[in-house]
Amino acid sequence: MTINHHPSDESLMRLAAGVLGAGPALVLSVHLEGCAVCRDHLAHFEAVGGAILDEMPPSLLAPDLFGRTMERLDVAQPLPARGPVMKPRPALGIELPQTMQGCEVGPWKWLGPGFQWSKVKIAGSPEAKVMLLKGKAGLHLPGHGHTGLEFTQILSGSLSDERGRYLPGDLDEADDGVDHRPVVGQESDCVCLAALEGDTRLHGILGRLLRPIVGF
Ligand SMILES: [Zn+2]
Repeated sequence: MTINHHPSDESLMRLAAGVLGAGPALVLSVHLEGCAVCRDHLAHFEAVGGAILDEMPPSLLAPDLFGRTMERLDVAQPLPARGPVMKPRPALGIELPQTMQGCEVGPWKWLGPGFQWSKVKIAGSPEAKVMLLKGKAGLHLPGHGHTGLEFTQILSGSLSDERGRYLPGDLDEADDGVDHRPVVGQESDCVCLAALEGDTRLHGILGRLLRPIVGF
């Protein structure tokens, strides 16, 4: 599998520091499961963070800062979603990545013609805006922008937009400068895992479609 689209260094650094939200952290972790290049980058960022801590005399650290920082580094392990499966999985027609083992995943629900979604719940992070999306082959998704970052990991099929083509293993990180109109490849249906960071809202037609049904 050749991976052409990766998360930004900034997002990997935030994952290493434990300050990336649970939804984006899950999407990045699924990407890391299949991407040795990003696993190397993450290990580097974790090592750099550890080295900075090692070089700081304890007297310069606030009494509880060291402990808090180490807790964050512990939290920053790349597979935050592992754990017991909470409910039997509905049949989704796709094998989910190992990294999603601890997530509760709902059945496919109608979102539009040829377009379905499934709610993904991360244990301990009920506020995370994360879901699976499935579009039928050739579907033109509604155009949309975002107020913040949107992370999309392709699990099967392909998506294309004005910036390129995204295949299984690819991660698209779209910021508020991206206003896109993705199209599902003709070869098969496309399933992807998508997360919005923090209070990111979708605007455009997709936002108006998702908000009343999905809640974000
Ligand atoms: Zn990568």
